[in-house]
Amino acid sequence: MYTDLLPPTEDPMGQAIADYHKKGRADKLIVSSPDFDDDEIPVSQLFRTYAEMSSIEQTALRLARGKILDIGAGSGCHSLALQEMGKNVEAIDISALSVQVMKERGIKAEQRNFFSPTWATTYDTLLLLMNGAGIIGKVEEFPRFFERIKQLLSPEGCVLMDSSDLRYLYEEEEEDGSFLIDIAGDYYGELSYSMQYKKTKGKPFLWLYVDFETLSYYASQYGFKATCIEQGAHYDYLAKIEWR
Ligand code: SAH
Repeated sequence: MYTDLLPPTEDPMGQAIADYHKKGRADKLIVSSPDFDDDEIPVSQLFRTYAEMSSIEQTALRLARGKILDIGAGSGCHSLALQEMGKNVEAIDISALSVQVMKERGIKAEQRNFFSPTWATTYDTLLLLMNGAGIIGKVEEFPRFFERIKQLLSPEGCVLMDSSDLRYLYEEEEEDGSFLIDIAGDYYGELSYSMQYKKTKGKPFLWLYVDFETLSYYASQYGFKATCIEQGAHYDYLAKIEWR
């Protein structure tokens, strides 16, 4: 995602999060993509508690240690759960509204773009959850992503990130069970999304879904090692990325 920082007027998800935080309910948060029918993100799910999280998320929170950075933290659901576990966490998000909500929820949050010039601190755990790989945007941006990880990760640190392999969307029932993927085109997990909340339409942004083999390949190209920690029920997985 390239968007530098999101002011309230251009931030449908931030508006939905702020409404839900204030009133305990929100209108529909609509996600559009040229490739799919419109979908809705239930805003209450952005406020999920530890007990309501997927097993992959719970595992990531249990493994997170030391000084933790929750990247693209949204309402701060993971940061809050980590604090309740007594862990030391900071959160960043490009959304001014979400950062305000996180501060009101007692989280040490800052409006910051993961890709903007780095700050002087390093972290023992970098957490990217809810298809956290999305932030990479597209495969071509892997170098930029790993450059930033190099600056932010302590010597013993690790990245915990989830994603899904979108291969299942392209499973055209070939008799032999093989997949029809256009290997000459863009990588099949590069999606373009835009969101709408009430009358606010956000700018389109790129969101990457990456299969584990591709992630692992790029990690090794930039001096890291990726391990698949857990697989979910729907082609989703949790990856741990460490220095090699
Ligand atoms: N992790 C949260 C929110 C996921 S939605 C959860 O699991 O509920 C993705 C979030 O990432 C949004 O809040 C969006 O504003 C933020 N985001 C997107 N690109 C970003 C970037 N480059 N730097 C920091 N935050 C980003």
